Amino acid sequence: MTAAQAALVSCPTCRLVSRVPHRLIKGHAICLRCGAKLSLRKPNSLARTWALIVAAYILYIPANVYPVMTVISFGKGEPDTILSGVQSLIASGWWPLAVLVFFASIIVPLIKLVGLTYLVASVQYRWHWHPKQRTILYRITEAVGRWSMIDIFMITILVALVRLEAIATVEPGAGATSFAAVVVLTMFAAMSFDPRLMWDVVDQRHDQRA
Ligand SMILES: [Zn+2]
Repeated sequence: MTAAQAALVSCPTCRLVSRVPHRLIKGHAICLRCGAKLSLRKPNSLARTWALIVAAYILYIPANVYPVMTVISFGKGEPDTILSGVQSLIASGWWPLAVLVFFASIIVPLIKLVGLTYLVASVQYRWHWHPKQRTILYRITEAVGRWSMIDIFMITILVALVRLEAIATVEPGAGATSFAAVVVLTMFAAMSFDPRLMWDVVDQRHDQRA
């Protein structure tokens, strides 16, 4: 039996579990403790998550094609995309940093997007296998996403600190904005997806068989 079947709902804000309908205001149940709107499942979870994922896929292209920053030292410097940045880090012998940037900026956002697509598709097309593993995958995707912000932090810090004008300057590029948007959109997509939907699909299958 799920909490939804027992008419129990947890508050999205303060986590208080209450029975619905507890108190209705304009058709919404609200939390007794903090007054937040209560619903058994996140409203329009699938449509919202799809929209955010598609937007993130689209922005993933300019994030990798356009330069994320330009380092000008002694009057010379070329704009760097994420990948060319990794290459120049390797060329300067900064292996650990190159690996970090490669994983945080190219691999993690892609894995996260593909993982979320798989999860949303699994609910949309009512796949019923391994809901437990899919829940674990969801938790990993949700936890890992914020680490992609490392790259944006790095650029922000460099731009703020390296202002030596003629000697060295760092300028952010158009790719950085797209990249930050990809990271934020995937974080929102992970938040708007309701993993309980995967279990609802499994439950409905059991009901049909019984
Ligand atoms: Zn509450």
